[in-house]
Amino acid sequence: MESTREQLVGGCLCGALRYECSSRPKTVSYCHCPDCRKTTGSAFCVGVCVCMDSLKILGASIKGYTKTADSGNRITREFCPECGSPLFTKVDAFPHLVWIKAGSLDEPGHLESTHQIWTRFSVPWAHINDDLPSFPWEGPVQDNE
Ligand SMILES: [Zn+2]
Ligand SMILES: [Zn+2]
Repeated sequence: MESTREQLVGGCLCGALRYECSSRPKTVSYCHCPDCRKTTGSAFCVGVCVCMDSLKILGASIKGYTKTADSGNRITREFCPECGSPLFTKVDAFPHLVWIKAGSLDEPGHLESTHQIWTRFSVPWAHINDDLPSFPWEGPVQDNE
């Protein structure tokens, strides 16, 4: 498949799993729910919603963990069995859709976010304060001995 800026191509950190998606995103949403916080290890998850049948997964066999959410939906979060990178979210109630973890894209810079959900669970540090000391490259390591 030829790579263009429009195409969604990505993979995990170690490279064992790669994917290509031939359709454009339906939505690009932030999820602030506690389960997404846990599974990403970050303040929120950014999910790129696409049609399941447009997603081609290449490489190693993927692993998934299924949990029933507070909403009652059974949600499966899939990840690389080698490096643990979170890649996809699937919701039983929407079997024709899949949410790609935006950070796993090779070129995530051109995405346009559409909305955010479960904002009642948003942590204060989900918003990055513009006044924080900021470094274009590697910042100082502080060990306060
Ligand atoms: Zn991997
Ligand atoms: Zn969530």
